[in-house]
Amino acid sequence: MSTPAPDPADLLVLGGGPAGLAAVWKAAQRGLRVVLLERADHVGGMSASFEVDGVRVDLGSHRLHPNTAPAVMADIRGLLGEDLQTRPRNGRLRLGETWIGFPLKVGEMLRALPRGMAAGIARDVLASPLRQADADTYEALLRAGLGPTVYDAMYGPFASKLWGLPGERIHGDQARVRVTADTPGKVAARLLRGGRTGNGTEQGRSFHYPRRGFGQIVEAVADAARLAGAQLRLGAEVTRLDARTDGVTAYLSDGSAVSARRCFSTIPVTALAQLSGRGPFEGPVLHFRAMTLVYLSHAGGRWTPYDAHYLPQEGTPVTRISEPANYRDSADDPADRSVICVEIPCMVGDETWTMAEDQLVRLVRHTLSDTGLPPVSCRAVHVVRLPSVYPVFDLDYAGALAAMRSLVTGIPSTVSFGRLGLFAHDNSHHAMAEAYDAVDALGPDGSFDEHAWHEALRRFAGHRVED
Ligand SMILES: Cc1cc2nc3c(=O)[nH]c(=O)nc-3n(C[C@H](O)[C@H](O)[C@H](O)COP(=O)(O)OP(=O)(O)OC[C@H]3O[C@@H](n4cnc5c(N)ncnc54)[C@H](O)[C@@H]3O)c2cc1C
Repeated sequence: MSTPAPDPADLLVLGGGPAGLAAVWKAAQRGLRVVLLERADHVGGMSASFEVDGVRVDLGSHRLHPNTAPAVMADIRGLLGEDLQTRPRNGRLRLGETWIGFPLKVGEMLRALPRGMAAGIARDVLASPLRQADADTYEALLRAGLGPTVYDAMYGPFASKLWGLPGERIHGDQARVRVTADTPGKVAARLLRGGRTGNGTEQGRSFHYPRRGFGQIVEAVADAARLAGAQLRLGAEVTRLDARTDGVTAYLSDGSAVSARRCFSTIPVTALAQLSGRGPFEGPVLHFRAMTLVYLSHAGGRWTPYDAHYLPQEGTPVTRISEPANYRDSADDPADRSVICVEIPCMVGDETWTMAEDQLVRLVRHTLSDTGLPPVSCRAVHVVRLPSVYPVFDLDYAGALAAMRSLVTGIPSTVSFGRLGLFAHDNSHHAMAEAYDAVDALGPDGSFDEHAWHEALRRFAGHRVED
């Protein structure tokens, strides 16, 4: 094993997604000597972009939401300038045998919803004062709040596909962080408001997106961090972390080591515990849902005019199909083809995870024809498998998370945050905001303001996710 470098950095950051990149950028701006270690050969984590058949694509549908914290939004605008576009959302949702516009609009819902479903929703709205949740589960909360018709047509089957569990085995916290309009009153208010917020933006109906794909954000942050003096090491997988009260040493798979006075970790919290030798664990454990992404390049221009198609219903494991070129207005996108990205949540090692490419393509083709979507005239196929995508809030998760957090809090000189570092369903702008708070808690003498961080963690618990 090689000897750690004699002169430790001020800060070591594990993981080069939005959280890690924002942390090294802000810390380097403050004059700290920072090193980032990222396992992949590129930056961005789940927020990266890459090319398929000459078209820039993301890892599933990604949008920058208008509720991004002002400080984060100002920085992203400053980095991207005119390349950060504001676009109207233009998605569709499959309800029963019908496609309706998503986000939902009152007029279209009245026109397009199947009669039986509309009558069921009307009955559920009238009966809503009489319903009460009889358990703290996803199903009980949403059945009571939104009514059985909407739950059975949409939220129930969608949850089973996204998180791999029936709604009665998913914790109520999942509904609280994911479903902001969870009563008929809130749904009606949102529909009637047309998605407008008090500050004039169209929350939920418009979004921001960079001209060169969502990954342009993380690429710009990485460039800014390098310019500020941060060292970004790619292809650098951390296999062990020796954390002491006087600093940390990370050991890499290539045999090298990096030492620093303090460590910010944005890798999955379970991996951090393992790398730093915590465990073995007893009792309930935390699970992450994986995702298989199938990219098909379609010959003949745009496949549809829509940005995303949401598929909550049973009968296909596919949850969403997006067409990245429709998220932006870019002369760089070729006119003769378009790439679609098909999201299939799964578990590592299950039937979907191990499915061969030709079987995946067949599955996608069946899904398109079963749901009335146009066929793809396929020029190229690309498959990506992501092992840790969605934290699973099963009924035991709260106890398992509390135990994991207390264990990780005990790792000296180390702080864990980011989507997988907090085991939260955070958006990328939340992950960046967490990094800003972590850097703010760093004192000039290398100390860390635990009280300020504790307060920040309480704020993060209020994050609400948008799709
Ligand atoms: C399908 C999908 C759709 C989404 N849609 C949106 C959206 O519309 N808008 C939005 O804002 N967000 C969206 N998100 C969420 C967004 O992708 C994440 O919030 C964001 O990427 C989290 O950033 P992070 O830095 O916390 O973690 P990550 O992006 O997961 O980065 C963690 C990094 O750690 C690295 N790493 C792990 N282990 C090691 C190790 N041992 N050594 C070194 N490096 C390691 C990984 O390679 C990775 O690069 C979506 C996510 C998914 C999966």
